[in-house]
Amino acid sequence: MFIKTHLESLRKTIPETVCLVAVSKTKPNEDILEAYQNGQRHFGENNAREMQAKAQALPKDIHWHFIGHLQTNKVKYIAPWVDLIHSVDSLKVLKEIDRQAEKNGKTIRCLLQFHIAEEETKFGLNLQEAEQLINSPEFKTMAHIQLSGVMGMATYTENQTQIRREFKQLKVWFDHLKIHYFSETPEFKEISMGMSGDYQLAIEEKSTLVRIGSLIFGARSCVL
Ligand SMILES: *Cc1c(COP(=O)(O)O)cnc(C)c1O
Repeated sequence: MFIKTHLESLRKTIPETVCLVAVSKTKPNEDILEAYQNGQRHFGENNAREMQAKAQALPKDIHWHFIGHLQTNKVKYIAPWVDLIHSVDSLKVLKEIDRQAEKNGKTIRCLLQFHIAEEETKFGLNLQEAEQLINSPEFKTMAHIQLSGVMGMATYTENQTQIRREFKQLKVWFDHLKIHYFSETPEFKEISMGMSGDYQLAIEEKSTLVRIGSLIFGARSCVL
């Protein structure tokens, strides 16, 4: 019951042009169904096997977003189901996504994950690495990847100025890639940034996709 209430009040704070991804990692299918019955169609998971199991069991018109670090050997579990992979951080994993997408007769939309936080632990590319990837001859031959934008996670801090600065950095990198490589690619349009604690700042800084878990489903029992 509380999921419905949470979703309704959350939606009032998110413009219609921003896609709300309900992050359902570690949460049971009943919770996802409760959100689904209240109109939610985009869900985010960070574990490949968990997404596979949920996607097999739940309604087929759900859009599944993969938001966690993706190991090459796990791509095959999500390829049939996934709509958007937010967390591409190497050419190696992108190659495997292309291979599995072809096997499944589909194109998979992907975002490049950037490292914007001060914390050492967060995954992601810097601008130079992203440009290397885009300029590589291998990337140019991938026929089953639709590169659709960028993703980033801000530092976990109370410092609003710092969070805003990190989101602005991601927007600058997005604009740079858009102008230099994707000006003729309308599909390259997504900036995935903002979680429960910082999504309003992210929207002010031009996020197009917010990934929100605990504000909808309540706190998770483990950290991730
Ligand atoms: C868990 C997670 C979220 C959602 O976090 P909340 O703080 O619960 O909203 C968003 N993005 C990523 C990459 C995550 O791993």
